[in-house]
Amino acid sequence: MTWVSTRGSSPAVPFIDALFGGTTPDGGLYFPDRFEPLPPASLEEIRRADLGRIGAIVGTHLLKGEITEDALEPLVRDALDFPVPLVQVTDRVWALELFHGPTLAFKDVGARVQARLLHHFTDGTPLTILVATSGDTGSAVAQAFHGVPDTRVVVLYPEGQVTDVQEAQMASLGDNITAVCVSGTFDDCQHLVKQAFADHELRQHVWLTPANSINLGRLLPQTFYYFLIAGLQSRLPGLDRRFIVSVPSGNFGNLTAGLIARRLGLEVERFVAATNVNDVVPEFLRTGRYEPRPSVRTVANAMDVGAPSNFERMRAMYGDDLDGMRRDVAGIAFDDARVVAEIRDVYRRHGYLLDPHGAIAWLGLQPLLEADRSARGVFLATAHPAKFREVVEPAIGRRVPLPPALADAIARPRSSVPLAASYPALVDLIRAGVPAARA
Ligand SMILES: *Cc1c(COP(=O)(O)O)cnc(C)c1O
Repeated sequence: MTWVSTRGSSPAVPFIDALFGGTTPDGGLYFPDRFEPLPPASLEEIRRADLGRIGAIVGTHLLKGEITEDALEPLVRDALDFPVPLVQVTDRVWALELFHGPTLAFKDVGARVQARLLHHFTDGTPLTILVATSGDTGSAVAQAFHGVPDTRVVVLYPEGQVTDVQEAQMASLGDNITAVCVSGTFDDCQHLVKQAFADHELRQHVWLTPANSINLGRLLPQTFYYFLIAGLQSRLPGLDRRFIVSVPSGNFGNLTAGLIARRLGLEVERFVAATNVNDVVPEFLRTGRYEPRPSVRTVANAMDVGAPSNFERMRAMYGDDLDGMRRDVAGIAFDDARVVAEIRDVYRRHGYLLDPHGAIAWLGLQPLLEADRSARGVFLATAHPAKFREVVEPAIGRRVPLPPALADAIARPRSSVPLAASYPALVDLIRAGVPAARA
């Protein structure tokens, strides 16, 4: 398989170039040149396999000739060393819980595999991962790369604008992780990072790689967990396979990965693109017009995205076939009041505690399950409810204890480097070097 641009005017490259390069030279995103379904024997094995094995099978298929299964399987097992359970919530609905990793959100999956892929494909040249964050991405990336040899992470976040937990997860690690607290906004942080990637002089001295969600190294591992649904299907003999999968979406990387999994052979009836009021994709599915707009703050803030970057990949998959996309993907959006009410209601009726993002995915399933009584649903639960205590606790009228990993992070001492929002200061910091990872 080679990797081409969604915009079609950059040369096809091997995976290693796409992995380290980030975006394509023509400003698009990397994408497989074609989708070859998994062979039937692999699909059969997947129905009995655990996540590490699934990652090895699907990953080697996607990266044929670039990494061996023997190298990939331990890499995936090391990255995904936390449970990803399918929890039954009602007789027809299961939650795929993706939030048991170190930062308690699904971004751990992509970031932890990406970190190990980068390390696998380096030749020992020290690598600097530079990333701007409004909170969640930075903490997942910092945790994912912590202690990975020959890499260091420089993560820029806006002073006073990330949560206490998020700051703890970035600034309490030390070693090869440098948290940089910028006196400015998230946009300032992102602008500084963009300047660094455009700075050829700097890049001659320092090997810089981005780690944002459009990177293939993060996208591809997200296809793995969808195949856990095949295992569920095989454990439900006699029930038909009409599964609807609802994905709480912001930048649409998660949903794109699901659509790829389906093209590789996973049997899914339909996906739901479930969003908060930042609903440009559900609007597109309704009207056929894509109109990105500034994002609005909601209780599901990891999905507050007004111009979703991976939508470009979804469009590349369907070309001009809007009806084809509509057949595969239903779009639906929910406002904050509905989300909070549903968290309370589901907790009371089913004893299951949703976070605001998972609640949107759960809500997205309901109209489709009502319309088709024989269908079953899986929703992706992307964050631990304790991560959004300020929303969840008032909704259910109870305290939600912090899991030990979070409580530990909050208790550890923190240190971040203060930085004025000025580019020369960032260059000095990057070139001055940061201690390499402990062996
Ligand atoms: C990032 C994130 C999402 C959205 O995922 P996309 O791939 O950007 O659509 C949903 N829920 C949580 C908790 C997230 O952190």
